[in-house]
Amino acid sequence: MTLKDISVRPGDPGYDDARTTFAGTAAPEVVLRPRTTDEVVASLHHARAEQLPLAVRSGGHGVSGFGNIDGGAVIDLSRLDRVEMLGDDRVRIGAGATWGAAAARLGEHGLAITSGDTVSVGVGGLTQAGGIGWMVRKHGLTIDSVLAAEVVTAAGDVVRASATEHADLFWALRGGAGNVGVVTAFEFQAQRVPTVVFGTITYALDDVAGLLRGWADVMRDAPEELSSTMVLMPGFGGGDPAAVLYACVAGRDPAVLGPLRGIGPVLGEDVGERAYADVLEEAHPPPGVLPVIGNTLVEAVDGPVIDAVVTAHAAGGRVVFLRSLGGAFARVDPAETAFAHRGAEALVVSAAFLAPDATPGQVADARAAWDRIGRLGAGSYAGFLDTATDADVGRVWPDATLARLREVKRAWDPDNVFRRNLNVAP
Ligand SMILES: Cc1cc2nc3c(=O)[nH]c(=O)nc-3n(C[C@H](O)[C@H](O)[C@H](O)COP(=O)(O)OP(=O)(O)OC[C@H]3O[C@@H](n4cnc5c(N)ncnc54)[C@H](O)[C@@H]3O)c2cc1C
Repeated sequence: MTLKDISVRPGDPGYDDARTTFAGTAAPEVVLRPRTTDEVVASLHHARAEQLPLAVRSGGHGVSGFGNIDGGAVIDLSRLDRVEMLGDDRVRIGAGATWGAAAARLGEHGLAITSGDTVSVGVGGLTQAGGIGWMVRKHGLTIDSVLAAEVVTAAGDVVRASATEHADLFWALRGGAGNVGVVTAFEFQAQRVPTVVFGTITYALDDVAGLLRGWADVMRDAPEELSSTMVLMPGFGGGDPAAVLYACVAGRDPAVLGPLRGIGPVLGEDVGERAYADVLEEAHPPPGVLPVIGNTLVEAVDGPVIDAVVTAHAAGGRVVFLRSLGGAFARVDPAETAFAHRGAEALVVSAAFLAPDATPGQVADARAAWDRIGRLGAGSYAGFLDTATDADVGRVWPDATLARLREVKRAWDPDNVFRRNLNVAP
């Protein structure tokens, strides 16, 4: 093997594809597409020897565009996409697989892993952020199903991390957002999930505050089988604003959804029993707009949070969604993984859509409108942030978690080779 076999450079066929991710295009000097772990090691040595700044990419769906880089080297893991059944409902999944492909393969065995909501999001990036999926209240975060990982370290060593092998690295990989090494594959404990009850309930938006209060009250007492996301839509294209609730029952009892029908005026419903793999959807970057994204993990969907969400939504041009947490997610000790915000009742995400030529002032205004909600939260989720300031780093990892992550970083990546991310400097 020479690196030439796996390199795509400016002028090569396929360069335009190779330099495009969900967040847009960049101009990397080289995109390296390893097919094996050894080729990942060779790619890393090449980038380090040439002193090329490095980006690591799995599914390329990071909203900050960190899986891409101008003038540097991208290690694109999309060819490491094997899904291998290991017995006892365990599975080894290459970091470059998409969650859609993994779900389809697991579905053949009546199995599933709670991951995200989107087919083409990568296993490598989502898992290291945490992974908030449709069965989060029943099975926790995606990282709560991780048994082990194969990692290429900054020094170019290949190690296995698990509860009993390099336990510090294993801790940091689960929520550390790509700071400590290149994960080439994860081993997961999958769950037996033959089918789920999934779908949408659409409500009129006569009383947004009442709807949110009702949703939060129902979800607080709901069985763990039920996870749901309330999406407040603006009136796109002149249509009326609406609220769409996405609900997933990790089981077969649709009666669990009953109380959700009483929280507001229902305009329509589309719920049915489906294979878990069919629940994941494709998503494309919205054309012709500049998204400005923020999120916060709130400990309670209470009066101040609801007021702030209502105000942000009323300003228009913005989708706000609230994702229920609790249940199995909350039962994991905050110190067990590098995702520490286990006390959160919900994740609130805002995406404002500006014109592509929006001025920095307009972007700042969109963020300011969001800040009111952000200030009410306990912290942020790494997966839905399009900025990476020191303040963001402090919100994603509370002080004690950040100090521990820094220690692991110093041990495994003292030169900060993996810095194109929400960076924890060594
Ligand atoms: C349409 C859409 C839907 C989403 N839905 C959900 C959802 O339902 N739930 C949820 O939790 N999140 C969701 N996310 C957020 C998602 O988890 C993050 O954007 C995640 O980082 C994407 O992973 P990726 O592998 O596709 O990204 P990439 O762009 O490839 O990588 C993202 C980051 O992770 C690092 N990284 C990626 N792979 C590796 C690796 N193997 N080793 C080391 N570092 C690595 C990269 O360097 C980069 O910093 C969604 C994002 C989008 C765009």
